[in-house]
Amino acid sequence: MNYRILLYYHYTTIEDPADFAAEHLQACMDLNLKGRIIVAAEGINGTVSGTIEDTNAYMDMMKNDALFQGIIFKIDEAEGHAFKKMRVRPRPELVNLSLEEDINPHEITGRYLSPVEFMEEMQREDTVVLDVRNTYEYDVGHFRGAIRPEVETFRDTPAWIRANKELFEGKTVLTYCTGGIRCEKFSGWLKSEGIGEDVGQLHGGIATYSKDPVAKGQLWDGKMYVFDERITVPINQVEHVVVGKDHYDGSPCERYVKCANPECNKHILASEENEAKHLGGCKLECTKHPRNRYIEKHNLSQAYVQAVISELEKNEQHI
Ligand SMILES: [Zn+2]
Repeated sequence: MNYRILLYYHYTTIEDPADFAAEHLQACMDLNLKGRIIVAAEGINGTVSGTIEDTNAYMDMMKNDALFQGIIFKIDEAEGHAFKKMRVRPRPELVNLSLEEDINPHEITGRYLSPVEFMEEMQREDTVVLDVRNTYEYDVGHFRGAIRPEVETFRDTPAWIRANKELFEGKTVLTYCTGGIRCEKFSGWLKSEGIGEDVGQLHGGIATYSKDPVAKGQLWDGKMYVFDERITVPINQVEHVVVGKDHYDGSPCERYVKCANPECNKHILASEENEAKHLGGCKLECTKHPRNRYIEKHNLSQAYVQAVISELEKNEQHI
């Protein structure tokens, strides 16, 4: 394990995000890093991979920069790079929560909870745990009993919460996400909306919780979805309960693939066998797409593809 993957964010004021992004990209390239970084007037959010030496140099550079005093890095060991390219992009917001009114986490945010505090509080009767990630992230792993807003994309979550306010009435609401950044604003939004009695957030996110020597990732079921080539990583160091279900037949599954239709790209859980049976399409329409990536990648003959499609049509088993 000579490589590391860093995950971090920091709210600060960046005067000229476009300028900063161009300079930061050069600095990252000089350090042979790969990954994805978002820069906005409100701060930085990134995940990069590199050798131990290079990632150490990067962390030193950031910690020595007056803009990033107090920045926290979550560190995973790795066998190699977890990204193909190095990208640094200026954006209007660090995370797109699509809130009607922006929340400044320096002004309003949920109570910060350490992993151990979170673990203790989540087991109390008067507490509900709210997952503030996308549903495809929830589906492969989540805290036991956490609320999964029934929405297509995260953008619809605020409306769903308003419509289901009674779930939170009189309760302490605990939010969590991958590295903590989504909770900074979202827990602030919950407070500003008057949702629940009290709002807490898992400081440092699931990534920190999994490494805590006391919490050890307990009460987490399944794996955690990550936005790099690993796709999922283990969290619970004590027990492993599979919660993911195969998109096609509902059997236990933790293998994520993207729908082979390049215009769909839906994240689905599927065994290798079921993926093959459906030529990588999440539904028949996607299987039949003229630019189906699965067919291209596996160099399948037209005759074979036709035979599979007629079989699928006949069985009407396709979801
Ligand atoms: Zn699809």
